[in-house]
Amino acid sequence: MSRPSSAGPGPSKPCGKQQQHAPSPAAVLPGTGGASPPPPPPPPLPPPQQQQQQQQQELTSLFECPICFDYILPPILQCQAGHLVCKQCRQQLSLCPTCRGSLTPNIRNLAMEKVASAVLFPCKYATTGCSLTLHHTEKPKHEAICEYRPYSCPCPGTSCDWEGSLEAVMSHLMHAHKSITTLQGEDIIFLATDINLPGAVDWVMMQSCFGHHFMLVLKKQEKCEGHQQFFATVLLIGTRKQAENFQYRLELHSSCHRLTWEASPCSIHDGVSVAIRNSNCLIFDTATAHLFADNGNLGINVTISMCCP
Ligand SMILES: [Zn+2]
Ligand SMILES: [Zn+2]
Ligand SMILES: [Zn+2]
Ligand SMILES: [Zn+2]
Repeated sequence: MSRPSSAGPGPSKPCGKQQQHAPSPAAVLPGTGGASPPPPPPPPLPPPQQQQQQQQQELTSLFECPICFDYILPPILQCQAGHLVCKQCRQQLSLCPTCRGSLTPNIRNLAMEKVASAVLFPCKYATTGCSLTLHHTEKPKHEAICEYRPYSCPCPGTSCDWEGSLEAVMSHLMHAHKSITTLQGEDIIFLATDINLPGAVDWVMMQSCFGHHFMLVLKKQEKCEGHQQFFATVLLIGTRKQAENFQYRLELHSSCHRLTWEASPCSIHDGVSVAIRNSNCLIFDTATAHLFADNGNLGINVTISMCCP
């Protein structure tokens, strides 16, 4: 009897290889009673999304600066041998950190710049929880307002360069800025003394209510040259989202004048300078201040309330 040709080895296959393959299952697994062993399961393929993520990670890792591990973003400059280093590190180096070759003249790497434009880079604060990935041109704008970036010291006018988590802000203020007084209650008077002091001056106070701490700030400065103004605002020691739950009212009054301002507090994540830049504060000039001042002291009524849902 001859075997049907379809079951036999193909004419192009060398028969030696066939013979090696045929006896192998029995030789490897003796005593299985002739039952064929189950084939090993194929390694599970990661879902397409995960694959894409991996590819992105591999791509972005090509842009890591060998010195600071930040991303090297366009314009991308290389050494004469083609090694890359980020802009900030390059400014402090005279030789390539990888090959010790010259970094000058400036040689741009246009191909890498094109690749960079096709890659989404993780936010700088990915390690503290931000999951966004962005086009390199969008990165700086987002990182300036990212909810996950560390908080800086909210005190205006000081050269304090403290940074930390939101939870650590209050203890920082209590230890490093002991002179700031705190009043309890939703309705208090913020008394700014000696408002006629020359130059730029800040008055700061804390108000505690609704289980939160608020920073009251009165700032005297020149926003436009030669024109001194007062800026009064309230900041929440909290996130932007939390700040949306509150409303504050500032009121100046004398026997015949009244000036009222109502707004939502800013988060200290944005800070006083952002509030002033956006004119999101009570602004009045020195002449107006004198209408309300008493012996050079200005009392501002501050009322904080919760917004109705
Ligand atoms: Zn670097
Ligand atoms: Zn080099
Ligand atoms: Zn972010
Ligand atoms: Zn500080």
